[in-house]
Amino acid sequence: SSFQQHYREKRPKSAAFFEQAQMLIAGGVNGNLRYYQPFPITFAQARDAWLYDLDGHAYVDYLLSYGALLLGHGHPVVQKAIQQVWEQQGTSSFGATHPLELEMAQELAGLYPSFEEVRFTNSGLEATLFALRLAMAYTGKTHIAKFEGHYHGAHDHVLVSVNPTFDRFGDQTSPASVPESLGTPDYYLQHTVVLPFNDWDACEKIMTEKKDQLAAVIVEPMQSGYIPADRQFMKNLRQLTDNLGIILIFDEVKTGFRVSLGGAQDYYGVTPDLSALGKVVGGGFPIGVVGGKRRLLEMCSPLRSRNRQEVVFHSGTFNGNPISLAAGLATIRYLQEPGRFASLVQRTHQLRDGIHELARQYRVPVKTMGVGTIFNVLTTEAEVRNYRDLGANRHELRLALDYLLMDHGVYSKPLNRFSLSDAHGPAEIQATLDAFEKSFAALGQ
Ligand code: PLP
Repeated sequence: SSFQQHYREKRPKSAAFFEQAQMLIAGGVNGNLRYYQPFPITFAQARDAWLYDLDGHAYVDYLLSYGALLLGHGHPVVQKAIQQVWEQQGTSSFGATHPLELEMAQELAGLYPSFEEVRFTNSGLEATLFALRLAMAYTGKTHIAKFEGHYHGAHDHVLVSVNPTFDRFGDQTSPASVPESLGTPDYYLQHTVVLPFNDWDACEKIMTEKKDQLAAVIVEPMQSGYIPADRQFMKNLRQLTDNLGIILIFDEVKTGFRVSLGGAQDYYGVTPDLSALGKVVGGGFPIGVVGGKRRLLEMCSPLRSRNRQEVVFHSGTFNGNPISLAAGLATIRYLQEPGRFASLVQRTHQLRDGIHELARQYRVPVKTMGVGTIFNVLTTEAEVRNYRDLGANRHELRLALDYLLMDHGVYSKPLNRFSLSDAHGPAEIQATLDAFEKSFAALGQ
């Protein structure tokens, strides 16, 4: 398209770099979702709320490493925390127990009252995998249920119906289990039940039928971080899983610290059995956390039995490394200073209101959706409550908007959500609204 033509001409260095990267890095990217046409931008540098690419263009960053950087790039409190680790502990990893682990556990227990015990991992993927393993061990059951369109990381049990095509996803009230990747054994498809989000009657029917097989239901309380579960749906889900002996797992990798400091569980007032955290909790460094009921976490305690076969295995070279914990603690503590988080939410609303106002003015059918410090830009007027509703989006319009926004110095990655950071101040919000105005004006022509 002409947007792509213009994009290409403006970025000769990114284009050349991608050509080279493709020769050695599969597809030129370290993660399939990082690719978009005609080639992804290569970044050289970042500071505060800004990204700088190889060709010297600056962008206000709304990707923020997929939402992980709640304080923006290179925040002084994070820098200082990492420096202190180097100076005082003298290492980036003990591979052993050290005091910051308990500090983080205590900090988390304060914000997430459902965390009676925790274990640290290195990614969100590992956190959801381990949470599911605990649930299967505890219940002795072999199947799990997840919701259509929900992402829980790149492991086999949950790489099912994340982004299924309409010709394969089956009936709305009993969605098919559609593989997301080549190379996943059929076992996982057969042991992963798919539920329709925000459709309570259908969920109740499926879960009741499968109760003897279902160890756990895992859910993104807000799908992709921005499509909220109905409050009643969430309450029903808690009650039914309790009644049927199914472990309820909240995947708060995106919603943790972003929807509210206490995550979606605070927002809904619903207590899951287990939760997975990631992204923000590492302050920009790799991390994952599983927290929840003692009776479940205890399954992995080596004190439980001398017989290894009676203990759930959990391990990881860099688990609980001091760099991730120090950066995460600095981030979480900074955000708890009076007014900080509220001000960030307020700026997010200011930006969203501004986008709505401009959309009206330029008659572009765009709305935003989200809670707290994340939102998405939708190109439909229809109500969106789950994966299938997203079919109403006009993707070509959203893509055109994304390429225009990049042209005017705003980056969220095509078709991606927008996350804000503490570094997004009035100047960045104004720059973003100016970019939206120019983009809407171009789309209106
Ligand atoms: N769960 C959710 C809700 C996520 O958004 C993600 C990552 O985007 C993950 C799990 C996986 O986390 P990671 O990419 O750290 O493995």
